[in-house]
Amino acid sequence: MEDRKLIYALERAKILEDLISSELEKRSIACHKGCPYCCYGVTLWITQAEALLISHYLNSLPLKKRKKLYKRLKDYVKAYREEARNFGLREERPVPKEKLDMETLGKVSALGLKDVPCPFLNTETLSCEIYPARPDMCRFTVYSDDKVCKQDWEDPLRFLWRDKILPFIEEIKERLSPKLNLQLMMLRSRYGDLDFYSLEETVAFITYRIKFDPVKKIFRC
Ligand code: SF4
Repeated sequence: MEDRKLIYALERAKILEDLISSELEKRSIACHKGCPYCCYGVTLWITQAEALLISHYLNSLPLKKRKKLYKRLKDYVKAYREEARNFGLREERPVPKEKLDMETLGKVSALGLKDVPCPFLNTETLSCEIYPARPDMCRFTVYSDDKVCKQDWEDPLRFLWRDKILPFIEEIKERLSPKLNLQLMMLRSRYGDLDFYSLEETVAFITYRIKFDPVKKIFRC
């Protein structure tokens, strides 16, 4: 069953990647390797499908790298917990996506964790260490003007994320939604035995979903 879940997660990610890439080919997008603004101050809440993909990818990396990323994940969690407490956010366990307190999470990201890099950001090359397995939210986070992204990171209280970047992302999501829903429905019909509510409809903080096995030195979820 675990293997089937992973294969489902891999197929699902491919559908997302293909659809988003074909949509982005038609647009002028400023995102490029070395532009890290959306990789600072992220709060990584993910589904089980995303966790399967990420841990599978992490386990394909050399041991030295896995250990390094595990250490970064621990530092990031420490920073997150501290800031989440400051903002009154305690919940880390799975919650239905629609019940996630996006407003508080946004504040934790923009104000609390502003200078904290995502644990998967390589801060020397400014590239994503898990790019092929990055979370859904990263796949969708694109914008047409990197100067705006920089300004948003420098001063979150200008609300450029809310007023400019987010509507851009929402428009892309809306455009893709009919095709995406259809393709996901067809995919799900081939995996009828899986519990899609657990796989896709609930999110939890990344370290609730992904753990490191210190004996086998692999990530588990
Ligand atoms: S997972 Fe990768 S793309 Fe997403 S925020 Fe982290 S470094 Fe950036």
